[in-house]
Amino acid sequence: MEHLNHYPVPALRRFERLPDGFTDAPVEKIGTILPGPSLIRIAGEPGPPIFVSILLHGNETTGFDAMQRLLAGYDAPRRPLPRPVLLFVGNVAAAGQKLRKLDGQADYNRIWHDERYPEHRLAREVLAEVAKAAPLAAIDLHNNTGKNPHYGCVNRLDDATLSLARRFSKTIVWFTEPREVIAIALSKICPSVTLECGVSGNAAGTSHVEQYLRHSLELSAEALFTPPPNHLSDLFHTTARIVVREGLRVEFGAYGGDADLCLREDLESLNFERVPEGAELGRYRAAAPPLVVTDNDGRDITLRYLRFSEERIFTKLPIVPSMFTRDARVIMQDCLGYIMEPYEVKG
Ligand SMILES: [Zn+2]
Repeated sequence: MEHLNHYPVPALRRFERLPDGFTDAPVEKIGTILPGPSLIRIAGEPGPPIFVSILLHGNETTGFDAMQRLLAGYDAPRRPLPRPVLLFVGNVAAAGQKLRKLDGQADYNRIWHDERYPEHRLAREVLAEVAKAAPLAAIDLHNNTGKNPHYGCVNRLDDATLSLARRFSKTIVWFTEPREVIAIALSKICPSVTLECGVSGNAAGTSHVEQYLRHSLELSAEALFTPPPNHLSDLFHTTARIVVREGLRVEFGAYGGDADLCLREDLESLNFERVPEGAELGRYRAAAPPLVVTDNDGRDITLRYLRFSEERIFTKLPIVPSMFTRDARVIMQDCLGYIMEPYEVKG
């Protein structure tokens, strides 16, 4: 396990109104307005709020950009929003460095279950405030580093939850691991969704999220939670996670014989595609298999999905991967990607 907490864990800051300058600040300067992780109440017309979380990963900025534009468009905080918003701005320190997290910090989207890190206290305080506010719905905004479609992730399969995801994208992923994410904790309070908004900084992605948030504030609760027709057409279930064995040097493209593991150049283009059995994922030079696949209970199921033969890696079953990334830092801090299966809701 990583050695964490060279940094003191900041206390949660609470704001009863949107701080001045929030809508104009560049993301890497947000620390000049918010001294750390912050929970901000933004006034709206009477009724329950929408909870939104942004920057749990400091380099995933689409949610921040979209929120700035949304709030500026409504002239907040001078005028009330159509619904109140309870906004959590997560890893302010990492955002200042344009990093997912700083070395020595816990991952801010892995602190919402258990008690392993000092950051859990922060998580508990946020969840207590959210429960007290009794929001109508909760939306956690993220980006991918790899090439992926926009998609919504759900942790429950009820109509309200699926409808939140379907309003963002036809592609929906149901997952139960990692269980330490904020969305799973939120799903015990209200319908919740994680939106994966493509790569950071993409203008079309920002507009899409801004429009989604605007609808979330303006639609009636009934309209928000009524699933559109064919809403389960592209539902996937995450069944396994792929990590690179610790300490290996990873590269992509043509195998030069230098790296311990050389993955195919176009690995990211496999995301959300049906990859057949026998597809080559890369080559390696190591005594032990360089990739480890674990199921949702943490069991090693590498040999169910992958075949290692003559220093080459092949799929052993047809798979649908997601979140395959070429970002070496993300691969080592988090994982190489996930394996999904198309999911049929019965009944
Ligand atoms: Zn993220």
